[in-house]
Amino acid sequence: MRTNWAGNLAFSAERTHRPATLGELRSLVAGSRRVKALGSGHSFSDVADTDGDLVELTALPREADLDGATGAVRVSAGIRYAELAEILHEKGRALPNMASLPHISVAGSVATGTHGSGSANGSLGTAVRSLELVTADGGTRTLSRGDDDFEGAVVALGALGVVTHLTLDTVPAFDVAQRVLTGLALPHATAHFEAITSAAYSVSLFTDWREPRFTQVWLKQLAGRPVPDLPWAEPATRPVHPVPGMDPVNCTAQLGEPGPWHERLPHFRPGFMPSSGEELQSEYLLAREHAVPALEALADIRGAIAPVLQICEVRTVAADRLWLSPAYGRDTVALHFTWVKDPEAVRPVLARVEEALRPFDPRPHWGKVFTIAPERIRDAYPRMPDFLRLVAATDPEGTFRNAFLRRLLDL
Ligand SMILES: Cc1cc2nc3c(=O)[nH]c(=O)nc-3n(C[C@H](O)[C@H](O)[C@H](O)COP(=O)(O)OP(=O)(O)OC[C@H]3O[C@@H](n4cnc5c(N)ncnc54)[C@H](O)[C@@H]3O)c2cc1C
Repeated sequence: MRTNWAGNLAFSAERTHRPATLGELRSLVAGSRRVKALGSGHSFSDVADTDGDLVELTALPREADLDGATGAVRVSAGIRYAELAEILHEKGRALPNMASLPHISVAGSVATGTHGSGSANGSLGTAVRSLELVTADGGTRTLSRGDDDFEGAVVALGALGVVTHLTLDTVPAFDVAQRVLTGLALPHATAHFEAITSAAYSVSLFTDWREPRFTQVWLKQLAGRPVPDLPWAEPATRPVHPVPGMDPVNCTAQLGEPGPWHERLPHFRPGFMPSSGEELQSEYLLAREHAVPALEALADIRGAIAPVLQICEVRTVAADRLWLSPAYGRDTVALHFTWVKDPEAVRPVLARVEEALRPFDPRPHWGKVFTIAPERIRDAYPRMPDFLRLVAATDPEGTFRNAFLRRLLDL
């Protein structure tokens, strides 16, 4: 039985398909009652599940065509960031940012609002210039930046069709040096939150919540640019893994050694196990102005969190205009939890975390586990009515709907 990466979900699809041509994909979609595209299967939620036909795009040709004039790259939807990054780097180009791991597919990541870190860096979907879809009738449709509805079609949870290609912005390739600091007391982190999270191009703070302190601060800075003095924590003297007890060989190079963007921006190296490998994940995205009170609210319940937590990561994401992006309309702080792989033990703690964060209007990551009431999630997105209208117009028969969309968006 096909499961997601974490193994916490067995897909309920009747059949799995791997079309080898666009024509095969179009016929499959046109002839299917219910269909859902699967990316690399890294979501912990049932966002990619279907009780009909699951489609993997792995047998379609791999494409990554760089337009030398515009710097845009048109990629096949199933390509993973690791592969795309190698191709781009060889041509002297880069993506503006990456998630913590490069193992994930471009289409699947963009569809769930996946993000990296950096106070000025948007979520990965903000690099999308256009997308090409197979729609429910087997037809094709292209939506480009500037088109009506484009901003609703990027983070779309697979609800509009099967994306076959995306065109992404690229920037000139750049080098990054990564340094880790250890032992940042919570009062220092909260007193200087803005300074710390904007001290480098991309910053992540990690804590196991066993004590009111961050165990590690990862600073990914553009090579040659200084990092301001952060006197409240100590530089690590050897490479570290954010999850206690895990081997840092899985992680990208640290200790300030400059290297290519794609070998520093993710925490984890392609070909190695990302994170711990035995886990569940949750993440809540809030307006950044709530970062300090939200961290203090989590600190108040750290006694409940710590026993089921492997690691918590705090990142920042710039506001975007993508209707269903958890960073829509607000500069964001993202509070991530890597839990032990024990849903029964984690569920009551999730409820405690969600209760603690409730005053801050959290938006859960679509691809991770959460229990927030669907009405509250819908209310947290000002453009939700527009998205629901777009889905109704694009997929009137509900071909791309699944239990996740019915439950959360009332589709
Ligand atoms: C170890 C680990 C680390 C992670 N780190 C981060 C992180 O740093 N930041 C972050 O934000 N998230 C992170 N995530 C979450 C992850 O980025 C998301 O779950 C993302 O959706 C994974 O992409 P995927 O290709 O596996 O998508 P899938 O889980 O396969 O699919 C997700 C959604 O995309 C849709 N979809 C996929 N392909 C297509 C297509 N071709 N056309 C239309 N719809 C499609 C699916 O139908 C589904 O709705 C992490 C997950 C793991 C397991």
